[in-house]
Amino acid sequence: MLEQAQRVLKDIFGYDSFRGRQGAIIERVASGGDALVLMPTGGGKSLCFQVPALLREGLAVVVSPLIALMDDQVATLEELGVAAASLNSTLSAEAQRDLAVRIRRGEIKMLYLAPERLVQPRMLEFLHGLQIALFAIDEAHCVSAWGHDFRPEYLQLGQLAEQFPDVPRIALTATADKRTREEIVTRLHLQNAERFLSSFDRPNIFYRIVPKDQPRKQLLTFLGERRGNAGIVYCLSRKKVDEVAAFLCAQGFPALSYHAGLPSDVRASNQKRFLNEEGLIMVATIAFGMGIDKPNVRFVAHMDLPKSLEAYYQETGRGGRDGLPADAWMAYGLQDVLMLKQMLQNSEGDEVHKRVEQHKLDAMLALCEETRCRRQALLGYFDEDLPQPCGHCDNCMDGVQTWDATEPARQALSAIFRTGQRYGVGHLVDVLLGKDTEKVRGPGHEKLAVFGVGKDRSESEWRTIYRQLVARGLADVDLEGYGGLRLSATCRPLLRGEVTLELRKEVKAPSSSRGTGSSSGGSPASQLVRPDEREQWEALRVLRRKLAEEHAVPPYVIFPDSTLLEMLRSKPGNMAEMAQVSGVGARKLERYGEAFLEVLGGTEAPAPVADIRHELISLARAGMTPTQIASQLACTEKNVYSLLAEAIGAQQLSLEQALDLPEDLLGEIQDAFLDGEGELPPVAQVQEQFTGRVPEGILYCVRAALQSEFEV
Ligand code: ADP
Ligand code: ZN
Repeated sequence: MLEQAQRVLKDIFGYDSFRGRQGAIIERVASGGDALVLMPTGGGKSLCFQVPALLREGLAVVVSPLIALMDDQVATLEELGVAAASLNSTLSAEAQRDLAVRIRRGEIKMLYLAPERLVQPRMLEFLHGLQIALFAIDEAHCVSAWGHDFRPEYLQLGQLAEQFPDVPRIALTATADKRTREEIVTRLHLQNAERFLSSFDRPNIFYRIVPKDQPRKQLLTFLGERRGNAGIVYCLSRKKVDEVAAFLCAQGFPALSYHAGLPSDVRASNQKRFLNEEGLIMVATIAFGMGIDKPNVRFVAHMDLPKSLEAYYQETGRGGRDGLPADAWMAYGLQDVLMLKQMLQNSEGDEVHKRVEQHKLDAMLALCEETRCRRQALLGYFDEDLPQPCGHCDNCMDGVQTWDATEPARQALSAIFRTGQRYGVGHLVDVLLGKDTEKVRGPGHEKLAVFGVGKDRSESEWRTIYRQLVARGLADVDLEGYGGLRLSATCRPLLRGEVTLELRKEVKAPSSSRGTGSSSGGSPASQLVRPDEREQWEALRVLRRKLAEEHAVPPYVIFPDSTLLEMLRSKPGNMAEMAQVSGVGARKLERYGEAFLEVLGGTEAPAPVADIRHELISLARAGMTPTQIASQLACTEKNVYSLLAEAIGAQQLSLEQALDLPEDLLGEIQDAFLDGEGELPPVAQVQEQFTGRVPEGILYCVRAALQSEFEV
């Protein structure tokens, strides 16, 4: 059995060996047993049911909660030469009938559908008339009412056990906690399923958490080191999403936005672009989540604190599904804590629920102020023991220094107490620094014993101390009042001098990289390829994109980055060698092998002009300026303008996509061209009046746009 499975793995999927527990899982299901698979994102869950599906007779039925997820998997399978289809509401009645006919004839191997579809009596009846290879229930945590992705329809899937007692069932999820696991077993009637529990570590993700100082600047530095890579930037509010996205675009980063307040067509189109184009940055609220199967998300940045470690793990886990290096970066500050506590306070729900949420937030804060290995702490929260520090997080990499903060912490707490436990951090710090302001004098705080006792520290040092005191629960936020700080019961031993307090020492970044990015260490995804490999890497990506557009699938469906990277490094010189590359199965070898060999063979040759055009158009659509495009494509700006003009003329690009011109200037240029009668004058004729103001290339683009309008 395992031997057959190995053959399928190599021939169809192009992989050499199973990962982790894949082999055991496949054996279990292929031989007719049930399985519960808990594996982190990117662990390779799909193969666990796809390989048994190919080994067993009959139709494999895969339940998936989202159309986007189904489409992605179906496209991937089709590229591999596997007959797969998804049955969903977007299909016309006729297409559905056709599909049913093909299924009856045994022409379809894997059928993807939504849970509510599957449990319709007519559907069940239809399936009873067929031979079923297996049922796979993907994203099985959707059955849990406690989870964030609860889908009531999943509850009905339990009946499959009784309806199809002889068909093996495999449930899969990337959700780690025990409670969800037990719920899956009970609700899906998987008492006899063998459990396959993998480590939830994501070794390729580099974790870094930095104190929020100048968040936008910090973000820019972080992104600057990762130009050209795709990633997600999470923000708490819709408003902030819009602002950050606009800010990034203005700074020359191709950013899109996604939140529940956007019209659904905009959301859908942004999501689609993020999946299909390369190097886009999605600025989003957590509404952007499940269904993001894009494997080459190279970073996940948090501009605000998530409300729990569960959320943090999930969100950061969207990076690096392909197993290649990815970065999880977060900037956090006291303001985040205040905001989340406020939200928690105002949320619906009983006291018990709020207390649970409060504990979750506290665990998140503890990770931020963690002095040990972040990965050990994170996995520890999920009851997984990592014996050694990971060596692949900021704390391991940079080392953490702590300092004895007992005395200043007492002063800080004392300032809270003496001022009546109702002032915010700003005021408290002013008092400690002895600032002689009206606001301090008003309530007579200049007469307090703590007034001016903290002059030997800077304002930001005091703010850091307060942040850590709140994060550790020694001080608390008064949410009934004005959001001032008050003491919490746990600070008494410290105030009484019975315990000491060690705090994280903040390393002030001289150049911003240490505090914000990972140029100080780690392996940022931007270093995926070396500078000397860059050119060929881009050529491979250009070819992939072209093929993806021809086949109307996302680029990673043609080949994942890991496969391109292996081609780049192992340099196959013929088809036999190409077949050895991981991820190159028989079908893909036949379809694409030659084309990629050609690119690999022609190192010296620059990318063909046709390919540059292709890339140029997607970059322009992604919002890059001509200057940025020129640097990305390593050609002159003049060249870029002339190619843009060409694309505009061919109506592959609109003028708005190509250029960001002020309206009145555009009007002026258009008028200049339209001045005379008849034919449009050549650029040379109008150029003079714009010398020094407008690059010539722009004139070519505007003219091309006018020309194409006239032709219509
Ligand atoms: P999950 O659903 O667990 O997040 P996927 O099934 O999407 O993970 O797999 C993640 C990536 O790893 C995919 O690109 C997949 O092709 C690849 N992969 C899975 N199993 C193997 C394997 N045995 N060898 C090489 N690559 C694999
Ligand atoms: Zn570590």
